Amino acid sequence: MAISEKMLGFSTRSSWIRKMFEEGAKLKIQYGADQVFDFSLGNPDVPPPPQFNDVLLELAKNTTPGQHSYMPNGGLPWVREAIAARMSAEQGVAIHHGDLLMACGAAGAINVVMKALLDPGDEVVMLAPYFVEYGFYVDNHGGVARVVQTDADFNLDLGAIEAALTEKTKAVIINSPNNPTGQVYPAAAIRALGALLEEVGNRFGSTIYLISDEPYRKIVFDDCQVPPIFHLVRNSIVLSSFSKDLSLPGERIGYVAVHPEADDKGPLLDAMTLATRILGFVNAPAFMQRVVAELQEVSIDTSVYARRRDLFCSILSDIGYRFLPPKGAFYIFPQTPIEDDARFCALLQEERILAVPGRGFGSPGHMRLAFCIDEGYIARSAPGFKAAFDRAQR
Ligand code: PLP
Repeated sequence: MAISEKMLGFSTRSSWIRKMFEEGAKLKIQYGADQVFDFSLGNPDVPPPPQFNDVLLELAKNTTPGQHSYMPNGGLPWVREAIAARMSAEQGVAIHHGDLLMACGAAGAINVVMKALLDPGDEVVMLAPYFVEYGFYVDNHGGVARVVQTDADFNLDLGAIEAALTEKTKAVIINSPNNPTGQVYPAAAIRALGALLEEVGNRFGSTIYLISDEPYRKIVFDDCQVPPIFHLVRNSIVLSSFSKDLSLPGERIGYVAVHPEADDKGPLLDAMTLATRILGFVNAPAFMQRVVAELQEVSIDTSVYARRRDLFCSILSDIGYRFLPPKGAFYIFPQTPIEDDARFCALLQEERILAVPGRGFGSPGHMRLAFCIDEGYIARSAPGFKAAFDRAQR
């Protein structure tokens, strides 16, 4: 076969979410879509805010030549200015538009950063449970992913992170609010991580960047605050997208910023700009850049996710599931009542409930439930969650 063996191997490794997707499709045909409780996909179902459509329609009227042309690889300067202004307030550090690039979603941004940082064999530390694509993105650019477990509360385990750092470590990537746990790292933990990376980098004579992947920053509950990374860590890179907070995942629009005082900021930004071009993105979608520039202070109605979280938490805890209530994003990551998470997800499937086994995120013994689905489904899934829980106890 002509297909790359590496890719064939990857398709096996990435099979959990795909498997759930396929199983879900089968169940939906068999029982009808409204009889299947699909918590497997983090695909936002909350509509974009009304301002999105207003801006979209208004900008579509602009027929000035050049609206859809190629542009500087980093994106339209005035769009970057709008993002830099909002980020400056959010991150507690003055950011110039030249410190950031527009990207094809957070995923595109991570690839641009990895391309800019990694030589073959360089290492990136990622924390389990992790966003499954990180490993692939690191590999795309010849890097090696080093997985470090978080602690029992899914918080940073600095000792374990330190033990994983080597002279080849280029970066540690964190994601908060987290997919799949919904947890948010406190400021003190991030500050301590930054200090650790600085100290170890000095020992090795290298720079270890903290990469913060934060597409869920605006989706938080109970007044939870997501700490500003730039304010806490100098050698940091912050990237995000509008996939979740404006519900635009299909539009592939995001950005990445380098701390204004980071080591080698200029060459890093130049390399990221070149990476945007040579990875074939060329630039982030022009029309969407113009749209999001107008929507920097707008986000989806997060109270919808908050209500779902409350309902889901109360159903699961009444049954006896053990979990940390999410502080943000739209996922819950409960322990499975039996150690074999895949087996437990199969029991749930018999109740027409789709969940993703924690092993798919590097944390077996758990399952991820995404609440990108109407509250009614969550309410109606309660008997199924109870039945599978009871069967697992036998
Ligand atoms: N990072 C995390 C933690 C995610 O959960 C996702 C998407 O689910 C991404 C990055 C990719 O986001 P985007 O669609 O903006 O590329």
